[in-house]
Amino acid sequence: MSTQPPRHQIERLRHEVRRRTITVTSITDLSPRMRRFVFTAPDLSDFNSAGVDDHIKLFFDAENGEKLMRDFTPRAFDNSTQSLTIDFALHDHGPAANWAKTAQVGTQLDIGGPRGSQVVPDDFDWYLLIADETGLPSIGRRLEGLRAGVPVTSIVLVDSQAEAQAIDTQTAWTAQWLTRDPGEGDDETRLLTALRGLAWPQGEGYVWIAAEAGVAKALRAHVLEERGHPAAWMRAAGYWLKGEPGAHENFG
Ligand SMILES: Cc1cc2nc3c(=O)[nH]c(=O)nc-3n(C[C@H](O)[C@H](O)[C@H](O)COP(=O)(O)OP(=O)(O)OC[C@H]3O[C@@H](n4cnc5c(N)ncnc54)[C@H](O)[C@@H]3O)c2cc1C
Repeated sequence: MSTQPPRHQIERLRHEVRRRTITVTSITDLSPRMRRFVFTAPDLSDFNSAGVDDHIKLFFDAENGEKLMRDFTPRAFDNSTQSLTIDFALHDHGPAANWAKTAQVGTQLDIGGPRGSQVVPDDFDWYLLIADETGLPSIGRRLEGLRAGVPVTSIVLVDSQAEAQAIDTQTAWTAQWLTRDPGEGDDETRLLTALRGLAWPQGEGYVWIAAEAGVAKALRAHVLEERGHPAAWMRAAGYWLKGEPGAHENFG
């Protein structure tokens, strides 16, 4: 009798943490509030990022000489050309956002990691991806990597429709782009309302959430408590904390 391998095995990997100094080779505005940087460095030839929601640490200089660390997603990398792509949401203030507003081709940046990866298998019946703009780089990676025809719904909150991204995917992708329109409520209200209105797909799915921490927590509670979705088949993270520079939270 043949036994089927178990489905939905999420793999966790640890990597040796490496520090690298990388140099900007190109800068492209994907939209008014999302700027893409491509970097190069000889030691990117063995850069590894196995999980689509991996993060690397970026190091910035504070005025007092301290190093400030911020987490960003490796949006793409290519060992053969020693290149790494990072997309920056251009929010109003903070060392990372300020760096992205002023960096030029040739500017250098110190990075560390990724320290670990969580690899979600491409064997779920469907995927639901909910985020603000900071989660878009990971959503882009996931959409590019998932198998042809798998249903994927994304619900992404951005400043305006001009932020909607074209992403190359073979999946059956349904995109909801929500915008921060005056009078439509705060981020939590906008995302929760959209999620409540969603017809929950049949079958076994994977849910991924990344947004401001309070927002991500509320979305996670809805998915677990109101939808009864298994905690093992979801990941929710606070990618930033309102009013708290450099902070983030992982809710598992
Ligand atoms: C695992 C992980 C992966 C991430 N990947 C990306 C990525 O690929 N691209 C990306 O752009 N971001 C990403 N983020 C989010 C990013 O790390 C935070 O937005 C970070 O706070 C930005 O640093 P900063 O120096 O610009 O602002 P900070 O100094 O951290 O914050 C300054 C102020 O701005 C607020 N703030 C921070 N971020 C935002 C925001 N996006 N919108 C509005 N206000 C904000 C803070 O609450 C604070 O009041 C990721 C976060 C995590 C945890």
